[in-house]
Amino acid sequence: MATRKLYYEDAYLKEAKAKVLEVRDNALLLDQTIFYPTGGGQPHDRGTINGVEVLDVYKDEEGNVWHVVAEPEMFKVGDEVELKIDWDYRYKLMRIHSAMHLLDHVLNEVLGKGKWKPYGSGMSYEKGRYDIEYPENVNQYKEKIIELFNRYVDEGGEMKIWWEGETRLTQIRDFEVIPCGGTHVRDIKEIGHLKKLKRSSLGRGKQRLEIWLEE
Ligand SMILES: [Zn+2]
Repeated sequence: MATRKLYYEDAYLKEAKAKVLEVRDNALLLDQTIFYPTGGGQPHDRGTINGVEVLDVYKDEEGNVWHVVAEPEMFKVGDEVELKIDWDYRYKLMRIHSAMHLLDHVLNEVLGKGKWKPYGSGMSYEKGRYDIEYPENVNQYKEKIIELFNRYVDEGGEMKIWWEGETRLTQIRDFEVIPCGGTHVRDIKEIGHLKKLKRSSLGRGKQRLEIWLEE
């Protein structure tokens, strides 16, 4: 039985209790967790287990979530432990991650669906990044992209999440349905305005778009 993923049941959980099922080298396996493991372009959560710093969180092939901790000798199988995530860090990631989905839709509207192609993406708590292929310089549409993005944020809209078998799907308003295993905000209002959009050339129609959100 894989780790119960509380971050899927409620992405807004900041604390939880869990039980240690296994200690392997410097990593803990718990019966349930609020720690999001690295995946889908989203970095793993930071935080503590019983006050001990969590250094890395990853998912194995069985879907179990492992927590690499600074002091593994502090834990043994059967321990009841207190989990705490760095909420400021996670919430910023949720906002950036959700912003990437909204940007996806805005680019479809401004550049045309099927006219641009993403071939890489990434995010940190500071910014989001899309590497795309598009024949024209996106700079000329910059104002339009920012304006439409911010208008949608002002209007708001639920980010729906549901499962179809093993696939987790998400949708903003009635926009595109996107398969995604990350954590999102409940309403795109929470994303906040786009502060800056930077376009740089990667050569031959390849362009990098980076976004920063207002605090
Ligand atoms: Zn997502």
